[in-house]
Amino acid sequence: MNSEHQLETILKDQNLPKQHRAIAEKVKNSERITFDEGVYLFEKGDLAYVGVLANYIREKRHGNKTYFNRNFHIEPTNLCVYDCKFCSYSVLIKERSEGWEYTLEDMLNIVKSYDGQPVTEAHIVGGVLPQYDMTFYQKLFSEIKKHRPDLHIKALTPVEYHYIFKKAKVDYATGMKLMKEAGLESMPGGGAEIFHPEIREQIAKDKCNADQWLQIHEEWHKLGKRSNATMLYGHIEKFWHRVDHMERLRQLQDKTGGFQTFIPLKFRNQDNQMSNVPESTVVEDLRNYAISRIYLDNFDHIKAYWAMISRSTAQLSLNFGVDDIDGTLDDTTKIYSMAGAEEQHPGMSTMELVKLIKAVGRKPIERDTFYNVVTDYENFDFPDELKPKYYALPVLN
Ligand code: SF4
Repeated sequence: MNSEHQLETILKDQNLPKQHRAIAEKVKNSERITFDEGVYLFEKGDLAYVGVLANYIREKRHGNKTYFNRNFHIEPTNLCVYDCKFCSYSVLIKERSEGWEYTLEDMLNIVKSYDGQPVTEAHIVGGVLPQYDMTFYQKLFSEIKKHRPDLHIKALTPVEYHYIFKKAKVDYATGMKLMKEAGLESMPGGGAEIFHPEIREQIAKDKCNADQWLQIHEEWHKLGKRSNATMLYGHIEKFWHRVDHMERLRQLQDKTGGFQTFIPLKFRNQDNQMSNVPESTVVEDLRNYAISRIYLDNFDHIKAYWAMISRSTAQLSLNFGVDDIDGTLDDTTKIYSMAGAEEQHPGMSTMELVKLIKAVGRKPIERDTFYNVVTDYENFDFPDELKPKYYALPVLN
């Protein structure tokens, strides 16, 4: 049964509660749901119901297409001046033994180690330290572009930008313009956590607040540039805080249209100051993807980080509104493993990721940062040397 039939089946159900029906009708007619309806979905929407609605939207927008990209991560440092309660980085600054602080040269060497490899993007994000100031990042971006002009630089979040602009005494508009001139091409979605001050002040009180986070993205969008947005869910927030978070994003997106992708991030409770807080269940994770897909009607893409939620949950998420699975990472990222991710060494080859997507009946598309198709893997035959080797046993007569 395709997603349209599934939605029709729901609507034909005589026992469907009135509010369930009203929301399903809205989804069918591509109408926006309200704040209260968003909260209602979190409170009353069972997994099967929200899944059908989200899958209908997902397939209407993208059919079976499932995107991924080939990127690599550079994390300048795992130490941080801030003290976010959910983060394992901030703990480390007190015990510098486990920390690293890359120099400009170290980071350029990481870039050079990918010479000749078909990666399209360098994703640069990490902790906040005083030596990584505006001049440092301008130099880093321009040196990377000088070395490899075709490599897309997706770097830093408003948390870093707010910090370095304040130190350099420049306003957000000027700062973002200077970053663009240095080679920055897009901004990842991190640092958003939960916007509402009731929660933000308990889990991430010192870094940029919600308005500052949104203003920096707005300035970036005004330059004609794109960015992503995240939400750290499943800890001490209430459902309405999640809807409030998405509402603020939806409003900015109405204004600028600069967001590409929404990425819900599951709170993990390992090695941080919130280890007493239980983690969300897989059912809750899937419901959260689905409701995000329904609520954020002006976002093109919903992404899952397979390394955070496990390969099998990532496969399931493709039926709950997700159309993008984060790339073929190698072990250059330590953020996931340090945050207690399902995969401690999150590496997956392109062939493995393609297989994982095809196994659930979706169509794997390698994309660049802006979702231009790099390779359509639907009927792609991998070269023999990449396939697993099977050896025939000798036949004994
Ligand atoms: S979440 Fe980011 S800003 Fe907060 S302590 Fe960790 S690295 Fe620093």
